[in-house]
Amino acid sequence: MIRNNLEQVRAQLRLACRRAGRDEDSVTLLAVSKTKPAEMLMEARKCGATEFGENKVQEIVEKAERLGTEDYHFHMIGHLQKNKVKKAVQLSVMIHSVDSLELAQCIDREAEKLSKRQDVLLEVNVAAEDSKFGIRPEEAEPLAREIARLPHVRLRGLMTVAPYTDDPENNRKYFKQMHDLLVDINGKCIDNIRMDVLSMGMSGDYAVAIEEGATHVRVGTAIFGERNYRTKEPKE
Ligand SMILES: *Cc1c(COP(=O)(O)O)cnc(C)c1O
Repeated sequence: MIRNNLEQVRAQLRLACRRAGRDEDSVTLLAVSKTKPAEMLMEARKCGATEFGENKVQEIVEKAERLGTEDYHFHMIGHLQKNKVKKAVQLSVMIHSVDSLELAQCIDREAEKLSKRQDVLLEVNVAAEDSKFGIRPEEAEPLAREIARLPHVRLRGLMTVAPYTDDPENNRKYFKQMHDLLVDINGKCIDNIRMDVLSMGMSGDYAVAIEEGATHVRVGTAIFGERNYRTKEPKE
């Protein structure tokens, strides 16, 4: 099942790249494995997946213990609490969900202890949904300027979780807005800010996100199937 799903997602990804006149290598597919057991990550790994998205630090800890972090690159895509930063910095290649200067400073301190420079993205709540984390679009530039001063954090770009919708076309305007925001901030030539990552698009709308410039798409359900939050280790 995972092999077929991955092949289909990759085919759609290639088609979207072609429609947009983009090189398919310009898009990184994150397999969002939250709530799924290590065995399913192993299966995805066999089919060539290397980048995995998780939204809980504890789940990254458990999966990293089991699978290591050499062949499995974990991306922290969920809301991050300060008391979990240490583990997140130890085990993730990228933290997609930075939404305050305090959190960025905390990441900077932990990264310094590990002599690491942590790649991060700013999470933008582009549709201004009450239920979502993330900063407002107009807060992105001032926050980026502050974060650019932190020596052990590398601000790589922007991330958004677009509204849930049955028609991905409804989110096109938000993806466009994110792309414009990234280009706009890059255009100001701020010291230490050259953002090249735009993390947006999920199972329902990743093709549209790619057409609008996503460099990282986060796809869970379309690869691993529906999530079941009631049981701890869903059996397939
Ligand atoms: C769960 C999750 C995804 C994947 O969602 P699907 O609809 O299952 O593809 C992407 N991004 C974030 C931040 C998530 O929490």
